[in-house]
Amino acid sequence: MKDIANKIKAIAQDLLEKGEVSLFMGWEQGEFEFQTRPFFARTSQDAEKLIFNEYSIHNLANALLKFRDGQEKIGLVVKGCDSRGIVRLLEDLQFKRERLYIVGVCCPGLKDPLEAARAHSGFNPQAAPAPLAAKCRSCLQPNPVIYDQLLGEEQAPRSEGERYAQVHEIEKMSADERYRFFEEMLSPCVRCYGCRQACVACNCRTCIFDETKPQWVGRETSASDNFMYHLVKALHMAGRCVECGECERVCPVNIPLMLINQKLIKDVNQFYGPYEAGLNYVEGAKPPLSVYKENDPDDFH
Ligand code: SF4
Ligand code: SF4
Ligand code: SF4
Repeated sequence: MKDIANKIKAIAQDLLEKGEVSLFMGWEQGEFEFQTRPFFARTSQDAEKLIFNEYSIHNLANALLKFRDGQEKIGLVVKGCDSRGIVRLLEDLQFKRERLYIVGVCCPGLKDPLEAARAHSGFNPQAAPAPLAAKCRSCLQPNPVIYDQLLGEEQAPRSEGERYAQVHEIEKMSADERYRFFEEMLSPCVRCYGCRQACVACNCRTCIFDETKPQWVGRETSASDNFMYHLVKALHMAGRCVECGECERVCPVNIPLMLINQKLIKDVNQFYGPYEAGLNYVEGAKPPLSVYKENDPDDFH
């Protein structure tokens, strides 16, 4: 990874010195080894701080949303999951391809800095961070799907058991069992909206959950309001979730949000597929639920 980090630094410095990009996004080192965090370099001196290590896990595609209204060209590093996030932004017309210089890194699988922080917090001294972050243990696409320059050796997809095993288990439950399962799963949700903030597909300028007139979804952390939040978010993710796993990774109360996302992915795949969001960028293409044709056999509801 040291070699990749040095190459990223050199590319960023070159682009910034030549004025080919106005800023370059990567990661910098925090106080502890596991505290890698996103960093925006604006000068070649800034770029000295760029690193790439086993904790460079944050999806930088999401950070692009801060710059969607500008004109400046931005360089950034993407792993496989981040690159699918870039496709999401391009398809959603949040960014133009020509505004990006993408350095792709074939990703060997990374560790979760939040998990490491918990293990170092002193509250749970027995906890040892897993060798790979949960999202990396079942990564379908570790290699970038869109890039201007590619670094590292191509990686094989990783899989921890059958992809939809847990979804199948839940599908076998009765309606009442399912209700109880999700009630229990979602009851710890504190509605911090961290899962929304970390999500590259949650890119609406005005989010339904922030509206107050009318207030579509209550603010309580009651079962009904929590259900409403997660149901609405799920519907907005159908056919659009790029499986980057960031929502689940940042959840402070460890809600297994990927279970909901995998059910959506499985159903969209089955009804409209084969379809995997963000795996290919075709200019002008849209996710299945974002298009409607006048000769569609179904009514528009
Ligand atoms: S999900 Fe895949 S591409 Fe993303 S950090 Fe993990 S292994 Fe790398
Ligand atoms: S990150 Fe977790 S606690 Fe916060 S809103 Fe999402 S599911 Fe709820
Ligand atoms: S819903 Fe979760 S896994 Fe899907 S794109 Fe958003 S953050 Fe990534």
